[in-house]
Amino acid sequence: MSSLSQMRKIGSVPIFLLLAACATPPEKTAGVERMYVINCGENHVKDVSRWTPGVNVGKPHVFSNHCYLIKHAQGWMLWDTGNADRIAAMPSGLTNPQGTITAFMRKPLVESLKEIGVAPGDIKHFAMSHAHGDHSGNANLFTAATLYVQSDEYAAMFGAEPQKYGFIPANFEKLRSNPAMILRGDYDVFGDGTVTIKAAPGHTPGHQVLVVRLPKTGPVMLSGDMVHLLYSWNFRVAPSFNFDVAQSMATIDAMKAYAQKTGAQLWINHDMEQNAKIPKAPSSVQ
Ligand SMILES: [Zn+2]
Repeated sequence: MSSLSQMRKIGSVPIFLLLAACATPPEKTAGVERMYVINCGENHVKDVSRWTPGVNVGKPHVFSNHCYLIKHAQGWMLWDTGNADRIAAMPSGLTNPQGTITAFMRKPLVESLKEIGVAPGDIKHFAMSHAHGDHSGNANLFTAATLYVQSDEYAAMFGAEPQKYGFIPANFEKLRSNPAMILRGDYDVFGDGTVTIKAAPGHTPGHQVLVVRLPKTGPVMLSGDMVHLLYSWNFRVAPSFNFDVAQSMATIDAMKAYAQKTGAQLWINHDMEQNAKIPKAPSSVQ
């Protein structure tokens, strides 16, 4: 418990970290060595217009789903955990009670990690874009890691009504006792500017995106569900079921300005077409 309260204390006083960063000259070795983009399932929907209001009404669609494993000099970091590994044992997938979405998991995340030579216990830094089931499906595997989560998301996850936000609390129940950095805004995970969590609320109360400075590719923003499709990014579209649509729009605008300023590419977790061009684990991107 002491480490938990200590971590929380540090989280609420980020100036300490800034001072520490100033006192220590940055290391010469590259912070981020590489990143693995892991196939973490697919979600087949009957009507894509739920995500693209008024467009492609009644058309089925397949959303990709990914997890991202980052090799940093200070340790492994995992971003999002995909559909639950148990779905891999269901050849017809798992359909929601409304019959509108069927989730598939072709290969369990644990197996994909094993191919890279990583066990769940090796992950020291862990964050999810948000706590919906297609991102938190395997969250309970990562109890050894420090959890980085926005305060508003944490409150929704572990508050009285997680279902109100579309969360399935059993997915992340074990994270209650993780050492946690409870964030109120952006956070430089390793203190060297190579991996930055950015608050991006709207889809859920404490949704966040991750900016990874890859050594060759340059800065890449991992979308979470800030947008689900390139279409939504280009045409500034948010689904009506988001926690806060106006906030979602403000987030898109803010992240567009950030991307323009920094030259960051946006890699959209659920956009199958865009992801077809990105190498997948066990290959890595640099
Ligand atoms: Zn999602």
